[in-house]
Amino acid sequence: MTSKYDVVVVGAGIVGLAHAYHAHRRGLTVAVVDHADRVAGASVQNFGHACITAQSGDALEYARTGRSHWLELARTAGFWAAESGTHCVARHEDEYTVLEQFAELRGHDHGRLLNRDDVLDRLPISDTDVVGGMYMPTDVQVDPRAAAPAIARWLADSGVDFHWRTAATSFAPGVVHTSRGDVQAGTVFVTVNHDIDRLFPEYAERGGLVRCRLHMMRATMPLRAPLPSPLFTGWSLLRYSGFETLPAVADVAARLRAEHPDYVELDLHQMYTPQPDGSILLGDTHVREITASPFQSEEGFEVLITEAKTLFGVDRIDVTERWQGTYCSAPGSEFLLEEPVHGVHVVTVTTGIGMTTSMGLALANVDKALAPA
Ligand SMILES: Cc1cc2nc3c(=O)[nH]c(=O)nc-3n(C[C@H](O)[C@H](O)[C@H](O)COP(=O)(O)OP(=O)(O)OC[C@H]3O[C@@H](n4cnc5c(N)ncnc54)[C@H](O)[C@@H]3O)c2cc1C
Repeated sequence: MTSKYDVVVVGAGIVGLAHAYHAHRRGLTVAVVDHADRVAGASVQNFGHACITAQSGDALEYARTGRSHWLELARTAGFWAAESGTHCVARHEDEYTVLEQFAELRGHDHGRLLNRDDVLDRLPISDTDVVGGMYMPTDVQVDPRAAAPAIARWLADSGVDFHWRTAATSFAPGVVHTSRGDVQAGTVFVTVNHDIDRLFPEYAERGGLVRCRLHMMRATMPLRAPLPSPLFTGWSLLRYSGFETLPAVADVAARLRAEHPDYVELDLHQMYTPQPDGSILLGDTHVREITASPFQSEEGFEVLITEAKTLFGVDRIDVTERWQGTYCSAPGSEFLLEEPVHGVHVVTVTTGIGMTTSMGLALANVDKALAPA
């Protein structure tokens, strides 16, 4: 292999590809090293939802900065991206109160309240229990199967070297030791997701990083109209940092947990993203452990199907695929950013927001790491 580059990225998921993209845009020589033979990690297992609006703090900054890069890459690398926004349905007064508080905080450009009739006009869901909803217009979605692989192909066609089936094993200043020999690099980004615990176990342990595994499905349903955008439910209000500090969230959490203790066990999040072929990705549940068990309960899938039937008011759901997604999770943090060796930057997204934040996060990291001294 050519063995000297300005930038070497270890890990060809969306976080690594975003770093490669921003380094390549600066005119640098770039290589990507991955132990798999294609993009197959969390970056293809997800909902494809750039869930910009519901973030806060650094994640919101990265998500907002990254939005234009997603759209630009969709055009240049040739994959589907939709400026669809996100809808959230409120099926209880306490959920609507959270949406009111969010809309007041962020304003009309980011959260537009919908009354019950608006919701039923826009969304092909059952009218049972619908109180109202909100539309978050700036969110974007992609097809997760297509987007990251298309970026990898486009980068390769544009001159970035990809070394597949090559594992990074250790690092020294200016050198990546791999299973196929050494690669010299001015700057290295290590973007291996939860597998960071195999390369730098002390950092993973200190940050409490674990693997989080999720029940996911692709299905078709006889809806009265297509779902126009990703769809959140009351459970989503408990999951994203942008909602976390709103006073009414505690009421939603207390009620949902009292009504569904079994769903709390599964750590259910009920959300849906429509795909270009008319199918819908639905999920998810969460189990956190250091080594991900290969065994997945049927109960998680049954709950997802039952809840989808209720929400959409359908009596049939045709599941075409089921899978276990895995992402990195850590208590109380969204990013692990470290420089364990001079010039070697570890970049790990430690919750399920890597599609949303990767483009902006990578821009900030590339700018910082490659700034003139
Ligand atoms: C079910 C599910 C749903 C999700 N939904 C969303 C969503 O809708 N929106 C959102 O923003 N985020 C979502 N996420 C989170 C998002 O998918 C992840 O945060 C993101 O994909 C992480 O990207 P990554 O590049 O760090 O990891 P990955 O895509 O896992 O890539 C890591 C790469 O590193 C490689 N690697 C590991 N070790 C080595 C080594 N030693 N040498 C070489 N290569 C190595 C692996 O082969 C892999 O290709 C979801 C995740 C899951 C699992």
